[in-house]
Amino acid sequence: MKILVTPDPKLREKSKKVNKITPEIREIVDTMIKANLEWEKEHPYELSAAMAAPQMGFMKRIIVIRDDMDNKENTSYTALIDPEVIKTEGRIEKDYEGCLSVPTIYGLVPRPDKARIKAKLIDGTEVRIKSKGPLTRTLLHEIDHLEGVLFIDYIKDDKDAWFELDKKGDIVKIDYEKRIKNNKELFPDED
Ligand SMILES: [Zn+2]
Repeated sequence: MKILVTPDPKLREKSKKVNKITPEIREIVDTMIKANLEWEKEHPYELSAAMAAPQMGFMKRIIVIRDDMDNKENTSYTALIDPEVIKTEGRIEKDYEGCLSVPTIYGLVPRPDKARIKAKLIDGTEVRIKSKGPLTRTLLHEIDHLEGVLFIDYIKDDKDAWFELDKKGDIVKIDYEKRIKNNKELFPDED
């Protein structure tokens, strides 16, 4: 069970539609949830809020979202199959984002704060989600993964948007010129 990290090229590929929910798909979902919780054990200050299948090398349109983002004791997740953004609306807000595939780094990422999403649950039920606030950010971040897009793409040229967790678990600014600009692990295709 391995979580892919940048600059793994699989993170930049588009994932394929699932359509039919087979035992293999359910197994992928279980594997993703297990990997999230294992990661969390090793990262005491962080919560594994969500994951997209390509982050484990499964190039399928599947995401899992933590049911309670404020309570680490609640370890249940909801899987969304073939999620689609119908529309985004509301204000553009900046907030911190991290990613299991972009270790240690946090970014201050602008995103719309409302969205309408269509997806299927693991039992095949079609759902429509009208999200507000932080859940919107999580959903858009994960659906981006299915297109090969990472949060760092939105802040590539914003020198004030880059942060990391220090040893005490506090969020601190990163020296953009030294750590981010020309960083081949984050942006391998840049000259
Ligand atoms: Zn991510």
